[in-house]
Amino acid sequence: MSSQSPLFRITAENRKSAVLTPSSLSCLSKTATVNLTRGCAHQCVYCYTRGYSSFPGEHTIAVYANTFEKMKAEWQRKRKIPDCVYFSPSSDIFQPIPEVLDMGYNILHWLLNNNVRIAILTKGVIPNRFFDLFAQFPEQIQFQHGLITLDNSILSMFEPGAASAETRISQMRRFIDLGITTRVRLDPILPGLTDDEESLESLCLELEQIGVREMAASVLFLRPVILASLKQNIHDNEIKQKLISRFENKESLAIHAGQSRVFALCCEERRQILDRVRTIAALHQIECHRCSCKNPDLDSSSCQIAGAWTNRGNTLFDLL
Ligand code: SF4
Repeated sequence: MSSQSPLFRITAENRKSAVLTPSSLSCLSKTATVNLTRGCAHQCVYCYTRGYSSFPGEHTIAVYANTFEKMKAEWQRKRKIPDCVYFSPSSDIFQPIPEVLDMGYNILHWLLNNNVRIAILTKGVIPNRFFDLFAQFPEQIQFQHGLITLDNSILSMFEPGAASAETRISQMRRFIDLGITTRVRLDPILPGLTDDEESLESLCLELEQIGVREMAASVLFLRPVILASLKQNIHDNEIKQKLISRFENKESLAIHAGQSRVFALCCEERRQILDRVRTIAALHQIECHRCSCKNPDLDSSSCQIAGAWTNRGNTLFDLL
């Protein structure tokens, strides 16, 4: 497979390394995670995977075509099977690429029918057949939608390949109607663009109305490669300047993701923004978790990125 889309180039390759792997993020270090691709069609301009050695280059998606077969073979060899599988740490399972959606469907169908719990984080458009599948296993799924604002002009600038705000809201409503635990991930908050009271208030009001009761939030951090992406991909100079200028007094921060150091707003600025989110969310009956991996100087609690599950007693996963 090698095809073209107006937005990106798609190639196929066979994955050599293991499919079920932990992530370098400390909150996913004991969870089995799966990526179906290198690169991601949602093309978020702030995406941290640009800094990974596996990043295939701008506007390129490499599909791991053998993922399902390889995962099943790995499964047979495991002494302890995963209790929960997380999709996906460095890509998105709901990218608008038919091969990725088909493979994602087959994998989810297989895992759910094998009594495995699934945590999904996406910014994508979810086809109907997935809702039909999820409706059969509401207790085995915890869903998170990434949503940083209701302002589609900001979303199309920063997440050009992802779903509109309306689509994400409507999808969350469908998950909630199915009885599936549904959270929002407000990550990254864009300082100067999406952290004002008006923007947060309208977002939290909408979430309250559809029945969302939990969110996790984190403020944008920069690496040189993310800064370069913002400069290259944001064409509205006023917006770009407004965001980048907030990082003039940036500080170096060691986050809980491998040995990562990033450039972040100073601790007090992040605290003020996250306190504002938490206060506004609480007014709308929404509990806001801070992402402690990305704010180790502020918090030590979990952002629940892989879900908050009750213990089934057989949950150890042999990742070796
Ligand atoms: S959806 Fe996630 S993995 Fe995909 S480009 Fe956006 S931030 Fe990166």
